[in-house]
Amino acid sequence: MAAPGRENGMSEATLLRGGALAEPLRAEIADEAARLKARGIVPHLAVVVASDDPGVASYAQSKEKMAAKLGITLTAVTADPADGQAALEACVTRLSQAPEVHGIILALPVASGLDAEAAIACIDPKKDVDGLTPVNLGLIALGLESAAIAPATPQACIRLAESVAPLAGSRVCVVGRGRAVGRGLIPMLINRDATVTVCHSRTTDLAAAIAPSDTVFVAIGRPHLIGAAHIRPGQVVVDAGISMVDGKMAGDVDGAAIRATALALTPVPGGVGPLTSTLIFANLMRAIALQTGEPLAARSL
Ligand code: NAP
Repeated sequence: MAAPGRENGMSEATLLRGGALAEPLRAEIADEAARLKARGIVPHLAVVVASDDPGVASYAQSKEKMAAKLGITLTAVTADPADGQAALEACVTRLSQAPEVHGIILALPVASGLDAEAAIACIDPKKDVDGLTPVNLGLIALGLESAAIAPATPQACIRLAESVAPLAGSRVCVVGRGRAVGRGLIPMLINRDATVTVCHSRTTDLAAAIAPSDTVFVAIGRPHLIGAAHIRPGQVVVDAGISMVDGKMAGDVDGAAIRATALALTPVPGGVGPLTSTLIFANLMRAIALQTGEPLAARSL
């Protein structure tokens, strides 16, 4: 059978758009939020902003918009960078202990001089909707993912890849072992029985390392570094990279250069990002289930 998008002899890669997968999930999250509210639980996400960077503030605002659409309460909490690390950690600890708060995000990056890792470690793992605490990443690394809250971007990458073909038994390559994506994605792929190759800045021949893979995940923050020289016919390419180039969002993959070669690829913008932002709210529903001990009603969350 011809691959999707390759009918009529066309050889253009199928574009894997995150919005298409996010839409039904959003409906399930809204239903779950309504069900919880009917039982007296008002889903509540706190976003801690410890930076004067307008980009970080706009991240919090974008979450506010989606929360409102889903019927979820979102509080943006400012931790003034001038107050220092102890105040930031006290803020995160207070939210971790507040029974009315079900999820906590530390908006990254924090201001220079603040230690994001130490502040992340203060998040109650059951409220860690970004899946970045040592406890959640440790559970995932141990193969105990069902007890963890998994980071949203790796989840989005995996859902997009699996919309083309199952990962179990397949060969995959992850380019980037970074904090937000690679560190979670690599063990999550192992947990799904993929055979995983990992590349990073010290990899000497990226093209050779990538070549045997069925699916290539890229998360390095180097705009358009991966191009025609790296991708062979039939590969699925999932690009989590986000950079701004001349005021426009760019991925790590030069999509135009590989469009005729790849089987499928995620566009930037419009690929991994929109699904990630929805999965953070799916993680909030999961966090509430972990805190209350009651299972989720919606099975795909
Ligand atoms: P990170 O911590 O910034 O680390 C970057 C990784 O890329 C490192 O492992 C580094 O190797 C590797 N790298 C850098 N240059 C390389 C090169 N020339 N060849 C091969 N590997 C190279 O990464 P991150 O925080 O995971 O973020 C990665 C990207 O994902 C960024 O663009 C970020 O904005 C984006 N992101 C997207 C979403 C989304 O929703 N789509 C969410 C979060 C992050 P070393 O380990 O050797 O230094």
